[in-house]
Amino acid sequence: MDTQDLKKELTSIVDEIYVTTEKLATFAYSKDTSLFGGSDAAVVVRPGSTEEVSKIMKYANIHAVPVVVRGGGSSIYGQPKGTPGSNLLMDMTRMNRVLDINEKGMTVNAQAGIMMGKLQQACNQAGYYVFVPAAPVHTVSLGGWLSGAAGGGGIWWETISITVVLPDGTIVKTGGGPGTNVKQRHSYSRVIGGPDFSGMFIGDGGSLGIKTEVTIRLLGLPKVTRGCILEFKELENVMELLRRHGERVNPHPFDPVLVFGPGANEIFAPESAGEEKFTVMGIMQGHTEREMDAKKEIFNEIAEELGGSHNPQMDAVTDLMAGGGESEGEMEMFSLGFFNGLGLAAWLPFNMPRINFCEIYPKLIAWREKRLKEAAKKGFECLVRFEFFTPSDQCAISGEVDAFFKDTDTPELREFVREMILGFQKYTHELGLLDVYNQGEMSRINAACWSPGFKSLYTTIKKSVDPKGILNPGLWFDKLDADKRS
Ligand SMILES: Cc1cc2nc3c(=O)[nH]c(=O)nc-3n(C[C@H](O)[C@H](O)[C@H](O)COP(=O)(O)OP(=O)(O)OC[C@H]3O[C@@H](n4cnc5c(N)ncnc54)[C@H](O)[C@@H]3O)c2cc1C
Repeated sequence: MDTQDLKKELTSIVDEIYVTTEKLATFAYSKDTSLFGGSDAAVVVRPGSTEEVSKIMKYANIHAVPVVVRGGGSSIYGQPKGTPGSNLLMDMTRMNRVLDINEKGMTVNAQAGIMMGKLQQACNQAGYYVFVPAAPVHTVSLGGWLSGAAGGGGIWWETISITVVLPDGTIVKTGGGPGTNVKQRHSYSRVIGGPDFSGMFIGDGGSLGIKTEVTIRLLGLPKVTRGCILEFKELENVMELLRRHGERVNPHPFDPVLVFGPGANEIFAPESAGEEKFTVMGIMQGHTEREMDAKKEIFNEIAEELGGSHNPQMDAVTDLMAGGGESEGEMEMFSLGFFNGLGLAAWLPFNMPRINFCEIYPKLIAWREKRLKEAAKKGFECLVRFEFFTPSDQCAISGEVDAFFKDTDTPELREFVREMILGFQKYTHELGLLDVYNQGEMSRINAACWSPGFKSLYTTIKKSVDPKGILNPGLWFDKLDADKRS
């Protein structure tokens, strides 16, 4: 449809200052934080409410306008391409308010375009905890995270209800609450009252609907922290520690265990370069000193029984952790500054069952090392490697085996890193693993491994909620013809 007609219609729905076709603006949206790029838009609109999103989608649906949704633009695999040049780009970041912190009901309700850091700060100030990823929290939005990186830490456990605008403009409220019983005012359960439709929109890459509001269950902000840091020579013993830890407590969100591999150890302690060892950091967060001291003692006991050792330097760091001081937000900023300083990132994340980790993990390292040899031959300098993994719950391990290059800003290096990122994902999928990201290029790699039944269910749902295929077109597949997909 004609861009000027579309712009005119949009300005009858939102104030004209929130609609633009300016080249400078559309150029900015063609970029994102990744090496894979943003979306090529004809018009950009910045709605301010669920009702505005609904009206825009009603119009877009009637006129079959392709719509691409954008949160903070922090996807690491790029933005949906949609129909380049014709896209209506819906920027959600004006919808950035905390609507309600309900202390009696222990929930927070916020608009989906809010940045995770702002949401976290508001909850913390009220004495509550909300899980956020170890990502750039000032640019990752709630809706973007739930859509594109749902597995990255586990906020989906805490998500009770999502207000979603379907591609035809219908407004849906999922979960036990006003959506499933119009006589109820509060959302209070994820699964009561019908199918778990919240889950349907989590990790959908934004292809089934536009999230406008989210209700999340709150936890009390933990005030006491304890840490244990130990070194292990054998991966098998680390995995046994994680198993025993998971038997006793759920690692998410207050009892995480972080494991750093030899590459990461080299960054933290350059004097240990070349040593094959794993550093395990057990973190205990809670409400009383007594409880946390007991947890620390038990964790240390199990770790030492399995051959874990510690030294005065490690003990000093654990004492610092117990001293507190580093709020959640400060820790995020620390980790961001840390990663930014390492160079051009080849992010190589993975997600897999704990059960065969010891067999698979060395293969991931070997794959990376082979690529780094190729990089060296091309003259690309790898500055550091970073290996890290963590049990995201009792069953699964999330981790990464990244490499950081000296950033010479040459197109050849960028192309090499892009290929390395995608090649790694294809390799891990061959091994049966998954990545948490449901966004950009990654969605297609995931979808290429879907079973026939899963593909068929997805396409049936997508075709029924979006028969004209206008929302984030092509995100998972080029076409939604189930028979022709490979
Ligand atoms: C340096 C770095 C480190 C990171 N580390 C982590 C990490 O440790 N853990 C982790 O989980 N993630 C991590 N991330 C990834 C980040 O959390 C995800 O990419 C997240 O999806 C980005 O959110 P966003 O708001 O920027 O989304 P965008 O990049 O804007 O969009 C991502 C996808 O979500 C869709 N979308 C956005 N908003 C909505 C909405 N309201 N409704 C429907 N669809 C929508 C878009 O169409 C797109 O498909 C990291 C990213 C970077 C750059």
